[in-house]
Amino acid sequence: CGIVGYIGGDPAAPFLLQGLEKLEYRGYDSAGVAVYDGTSLRVVKAKGRLQVLKGLIHDGKDVPGTVGIGHTRWATHGAPSDINSHPQVSDSGKFAVVHNGIIENYLALKQHLIRRGVSFVSETDTEVVAQLLEYYYKGDIMDAVIKVLQKVEGSYALGIICADKPDQLVAVRKDSPLIIGLGQGENFIASDVPAILSRTRDIYRLNDNEIAIIQREGVRIYDMDKELIPKEPVHVEWDV
Ligand code: GLU
Repeated sequence: CGIVGYIGGDPAAPFLLQGLEKLEYRGYDSAGVAVYDGTSLRVVKAKGRLQVLKGLIHDGKDVPGTVGIGHTRWATHGAPSDINSHPQVSDSGKFAVVHNGIIENYLALKQHLIRRGVSFVSETDTEVVAQLLEYYYKGDIMDAVIKVLQKVEGSYALGIICADKPDQLVAVRKDSPLIIGLGQGENFIASDVPAILSRTRDIYRLNDNEIAIIQREGVRIYDMDKELIPKEPVHVEWDV
């Protein structure tokens, strides 16, 4: 029920763990991270408290890399388990996805993909997003994301990493919360402000179906026609 993401110059995992802690109040039954280690996406996730995940990755030391996404899950589709935890990963391991919300039409989409030879490993609605991204991906992540958004129904905040483009995170939302934190040479995504307050108070608020491409040096936001949307940062004054 919480999403965090980091891209910058520091190790991603310690920030992801700390950000997820700040989102604990939202409730969760499992937790996980995906970090790009310079070669591939390393995914570690487990049912249980954040403490379990922290132990598995030695507070982040075991998953080096400066870009990553993290998640705390509140299961809606598929019981709490290691495999059903997020990030969910596509067949070849190219895409890792964290999701808050519900993909209402996931079963029809899943059956469609299974008929085309895609193998699923989890019972989650979320895995459909990861598999669809890979299915539609022809080299341009935004094209794949737009195709997926045209297929899925329901509510979602999504954080996406593609192993082919490890210099960026993609974030998108509809009817689930997600903000973008703006730093110096580093940027963030989070379900809520407390997760990033230790690093920045400047944020973008994403509207429904706006697609954010988040890199170290900047953030661009597009609509579904791939038109750039001008955004004013918001300065968050309040304390938590
Ligand atoms: N529907 C997804 C699942 O059950 C996401 C749940 C959440 O928002 O944490 O895996």
